[in-house]
Amino acid sequence: MKTEVLIIGGGLAGSAAAIGLARAGRQVALLERDSHAQHKVCGEFLSREALKYLDELGVGVAGAGGVVIRAVRLATGNTVKEAELPFRAMSLTRRRLDELLLGRAEQAGARVMRGCQVESLLRRDAAPGAEPLDPTASPWRAVVSGAAPVEAQAAFLATGKHDLRGCARPQGKQPGMVAFKMYWRLSPAQAAALEGHVELMLYRGGYAGLQPVEEEAVNLCCIVEQAELHRLGGRWENLLAAMRKECGLLRKRLEGAQALLARPLAVAPIPYGFVRECCLGPTHGVWALGDQAAVIPSFTGDGMSIALHSGRLAARMYLRGETSERFQERLSREISEQVALATMVSRGLVWRPARGVFTAAVEFWPGVLGVVARRTRIAEASMLV
Ligand SMILES: Cc1cc2nc3c(=O)[nH]c(=O)nc-3n(C[C@H](O)[C@H](O)[C@H](O)COP(=O)(O)OP(=O)(O)OC[C@H]3O[C@@H](n4cnc5c(N)ncnc54)[C@H](O)[C@@H]3O)c2cc1C
Repeated sequence: MKTEVLIIGGGLAGSAAAIGLARAGRQVALLERDSHAQHKVCGEFLSREALKYLDELGVGVAGAGGVVIRAVRLATGNTVKEAELPFRAMSLTRRRLDELLLGRAEQAGARVMRGCQVESLLRRDAAPGAEPLDPTASPWRAVVSGAAPVEAQAAFLATGKHDLRGCARPQGKQPGMVAFKMYWRLSPAQAAALEGHVELMLYRGGYAGLQPVEEEAVNLCCIVEQAELHRLGGRWENLLAAMRKECGLLRKRLEGAQALLARPLAVAPIPYGFVRECCLGPTHGVWALGDQAAVIPSFTGDGMSIALHSGRLAARMYLRGETSERFQERLSREISEQVALATMVSRGLVWRPARGVFTAAVEFWPGVLGVVARRTRIAEASMLV
């Protein structure tokens, strides 16, 4: 099969790019490995920027059952501090959100191919000993599991947390973290107490976010250092017990709660702090989007807005005839500072002595939460492309 633009991965970044390009009349094929909507490891907190981009893409989060989040609580030991968010946020499960976006991409005219896992991506003129291609040939070739290869003039890499063979990202500045996610149904009293809030809870070697999502479910998404998980026998049950023991607020929330999944979802390792400046080697010239371009620590709740921003920016720059190199440079310039600050705070949150300093700062000046939230967001000026 031949297409002008090949997009690998149908998460937020891939769908945002597909919608932008297809709306402009370009021929786009989006390949997504999952044949139907899946849950994903994600806190599902949608920041103001994410909501703005989703609105622009034709996805109304409120109409889809999204839940409003107004304030944040920080809990450590038995201490809880609360601050209003400097913006209105929402939450919606990824299973629902990703499906809505893929639907929009299809409506815009993109060819969305589900159940298509790309095995490898190669720039044909970059292969060892390759002859220069004639200008009418497609430089990109993707090998797809169980289907014919796809050839394209341009390739967008949006595989999120999963690296394509030969395209592994470096480990990032806060390596060695493992993430888990579990949905719960809380008791009515605890659900009422959580309403409108995202709760950030700190414990040895990691932190967790708890927030309501649609259909009266609650998302508990947490990260922990690999070494700490190892100390706990590598088991989710032990980690959960340790978190409950250390964090009074979590213990209270989960009293009488019912787990809604048979097992938690897990992903590791996560290259927090990674920002791609250029694509070299056999994928030189690829447009790397979303988590393939940068990975901001989860406590910011900003990974999805960066993913949407990158997809939108890439589509616009491609349509203007700009190169992938310029795109990658620009994106990294726009988000490096936020990712660096968030990574520094994230490392502090899991390192006991620094955690004490951070929580003392919040104790005396709860506004510090708002400052961190503001300084880790995409700048207004960058959003006006
Ligand atoms: C613990 C944790 C909590 C988080 N919490 C939040 C939060 O609350 N708010 C927030 O904004 N961000 C959060 N994030 C970050 C957010 O989840 C990501 O930044 C975002 O999902 C990135 O979007 P993406 O489109 O790049 O990738 P994804 O959403 O991961 O999508 C990638 C897609 O590519 C597909 N794919 C993968 N490999 C292939 C292949 N070989 N061929 C075809 N398809 C493929 C996958 O199936 C997937 O659908 C969190 C991350 C973690 C780890």
